[in-house]
Amino acid sequence: MSRTPFICGNWKLNHSLAATTEVLTAIRRGLADVDGVEAGIAPVTTCLASACDATSGETKLGIAAQNVFWADKGAYTGEWSVAHLKELGCTYAIIGHSERRQYFNETDEGVGKKVRATLDGGLVPIACVGELLEEREAGKTMDVVHRQVQAIIDNVKADEAATLVIAYEPVWAIGTGKTATAAQAQEVHAAIRGQLREAYGDEADNVRIQYGGSVKPANAAELLSEADVDGALVGGASLDADSFLAIVKAAAN
Ligand code: PEP
Repeated sequence: MSRTPFICGNWKLNHSLAATTEVLTAIRRGLADVDGVEAGIAPVTTCLASACDATSGETKLGIAAQNVFWADKGAYTGEWSVAHLKELGCTYAIIGHSERRQYFNETDEGVGKKVRATLDGGLVPIACVGELLEEREAGKTMDVVHRQVQAIIDNVKADEAATLVIAYEPVWAIGTGKTATAAQAQEVHAAIRGQLREAYGDEADNVRIQYGGSVKPANAAELLSEADVDGALVGGASLDADSFLAIVKAAAN
């Protein structure tokens, strides 16, 4: 069993249209001599079409949406469907990022529905889970993550598991500069793998589990050396091409 490491940059609400094309072009150039790793970038939603154009035909770099809705059409003002993303040429959709859960009231149930719709529409879901600081301090990390992962598992069949990507992102480590230690990350990743194994048997070995939370060139290699850390979801350090490429290269080694 071998899982191809997957590094995805989440640009959140950063970079203009022009900067999106510029940084993606630099990343694309830098990936030319890198093998054995999958890379993705999630730009601002209004930049997705340009991002897909700038990476058209590229096999080493896919474009991710930062969010997607579960319905394929209807009276849902402000939303977009998996089919719309597919039409543009996107490869991935990030689902249930903690900022979506915190500011936009996304629930475990909604995350499950979005994961289902993403698989049905032929994109790769990057489903995010992770505990708040107060939950970690109260010793509830495993319970919280178990509940969030179960809502995903309930919507994914065993023969679809190889397409699924789960991002474990302790909320206290996102954008704070506080990284989980490699051992802390591995402990939770191993628990997620165990839960996946109960649901999917050996197919659990094909699910990629990314770590996210202040990943940067300086700490990427150590985190990625853990047995169940199969990549990273990277916020701040993905905004600059050189910094993102350094993390991708750490995963390739
Ligand atoms: C994220 O946005 O998912 C993230 C992990 O951000 P940062 O790397 O900036 O902590």
